[in-house]
Amino acid sequence: MLYLTGALYLAAVFLVSSSLSGCDSQTSALSPISDAAPSLTLTPRPSPTFTPIPSPTFTPTPKPVFSKDDLNELDEKLSSLIGTYKIEQARSLLNQSQGSGISDVDFQARKHKIDSYESFQTNLVPYTGEIEHLFTHCLIAFPELCYSGNRMTASLDNDCLTPYEFKKILQSLYDNNYILIDINLIYNVNEDTSIQLAELLLPEGKKPLVFSIDDVVYDAKKAHTGMADKLIIDNQGRIATYTRHLDGTEVISRDNEVFPILDDFVTEYPYFSFQGAKGTLALTGFQGILGYRTHRDAPAEIDRILEQAAVSEVIGVLKENGWNFGSHSYGHGHFRNKMSLEYVKQDTQQWHDEVEPLIGETLIFFYPYGESVNYSDPKHSILRNAGFRLFCGVGWKAPYIEESGDSGIYQNRRNMDGYTLRNGREAFLKFYDTNEVIDPIRDNT
Ligand SMILES: [Zn+2]
Repeated sequence: MLYLTGALYLAAVFLVSSSLSGCDSQTSALSPISDAAPSLTLTPRPSPTFTPIPSPTFTPTPKPVFSKDDLNELDEKLSSLIGTYKIEQARSLLNQSQGSGISDVDFQARKHKIDSYESFQTNLVPYTGEIEHLFTHCLIAFPELCYSGNRMTASLDNDCLTPYEFKKILQSLYDNNYILIDINLIYNVNEDTSIQLAELLLPEGKKPLVFSIDDVVYDAKKAHTGMADKLIIDNQGRIATYTRHLDGTEVISRDNEVFPILDDFVTEYPYFSFQGAKGTLALTGFQGILGYRTHRDAPAEIDRILEQAAVSEVIGVLKENGWNFGSHSYGHGHFRNKMSLEYVKQDTQQWHDEVEPLIGETLIFFYPYGESVNYSDPKHSILRNAGFRLFCGVGWKAPYIEESGDSGIYQNRRNMDGYTLRNGREAFLKFYDTNEVIDPIRDNT
């Protein structure tokens, strides 16, 4: 088991926390990802008592002697460090080759590569144009399985991209001069907790792009329909997916989900990411997160403490690689019309109790179904009082961002999915041509 010490530490944290918050067997009847109004019978829970979990650090330990093998692997390791904006570590690794007695004829070229990258990332100019925000859902990891027909085919076809499409989109975004930025760069929080848009400083000529991924839950109900089962850490410390098919076959892949695909893309094209930024995961809590059943209503046979410890390690690797997190509510209900004020209150509390302790504090709230509420709506006050300041909806025809001081900042996101691939060519042409991106497998539907 990787990082056992961290896991034991986390297990201890959760043991303490669960005894403090009370291990009642209260059940809720949330029915998320459904158009029906969820019914909920929850009583308010105590405030979260977890302390933020330190992210594990995966700093490569320098070997005492620089070997011939190290030289052979040097470019790959340097690319990986550069892709995650670890410039000093890259320099340190490169310098190990000097004085090792092994001739490195490419030393100057490698040094130049690091210098150029650092210069690109630190020579910045103010950016005053539009800030685009694209989002998608988890990919259809196994398109052949999905498109062979099952209960989820129509829904996945509409809401998701295939790996083929996602890779083509990334290449087109890069070719069109976009650069991924951390969503947290677009605002400043004042001392009085109000929020305002920040001055954005970027490499000259680049267009900023915020990227988010909704519903990274791997709902058990979607198993065996074409989605992956969960995110894991592979034997090289990288994010991968794990899936167990109905016939018992187990698949570990770094080529069928947003996270490993984008991590690898940025390793290959480090100028696509501003200072290592990747994207923001919008997390619900009703079925746990990232494929781990961390929720209090998890099936009895699930050991929640082990699940929490395991997912914390995955979260640590994601953070190390430039990913961060926001809330997508606990139960994925309809905020605008169907959810009562009391439901919003309980749902928000439950998210803070069960999800925030795993990911750390966040100011970002992604409305389920893009159904945002007005700032004057008491539901907004509940979210604002819970600490959220940046609110994201969905609106795919134009970039839209609005700053309202004490109430927060609102930003629209454009949805990259099967629906807009078929119907949104015009609106997405500045990013990619849907005709060139769409996966031929969709013709089967
Ligand atoms: Zn959602």
